[in-house]
Amino acid sequence: MDNILQKIKKDGFRLTKIRKAMVGIFVGEKKPITSSEIQEGLSLVDIKADRTTVYRELLFLLERKIIKKIQFSDHKMYYEICSDHHHHLVCLKCNSVKEIVLEGHLERQEKDIYAKEKFKVLEHSLEFYGLCEKCI
Ligand SMILES: [Zn+2]
Ligand SMILES: [Zn+2]
Repeated sequence: MDNILQKIKKDGFRLTKIRKAMVGIFVGEKKPITSSEIQEGLSLVDIKADRTTVYRELLFLLERKIIKKIQFSDHKMYYEICSDHHHHLVCLKCNSVKEIVLEGHLERQEKDIYAKEKFKVLEHSLEFYGLCEKCI
């Protein structure tokens, strides 16, 4: 978390209270969260922020590539910290989200795509939908 804050500072941006708190929330979460969950998290540390302020800060963190957006099948927008490349296991019953790291087989697929389609894949997003351990 300190690395992220230092980088923001080094790039010449202000480390406001809300900015610090939001980075803290993202680092602490082990799953993607919605803007209203962020708002709740902020109120837990006594920061009152309206939706506009939260969105402005989200935009800032997105532009700096500190966080990224994900959309699941519920069509809500989720945000998570940019960390190691991973995918998500999304439970359709209880909506829990677990992160999973796949071994390199997708790189192989990306090479095949390039060979067959002459399309150079730069990134991908992959979510698995099903039932979690508790819901099977
Ligand atoms: Zn992947
Ligand atoms: Zn579940």
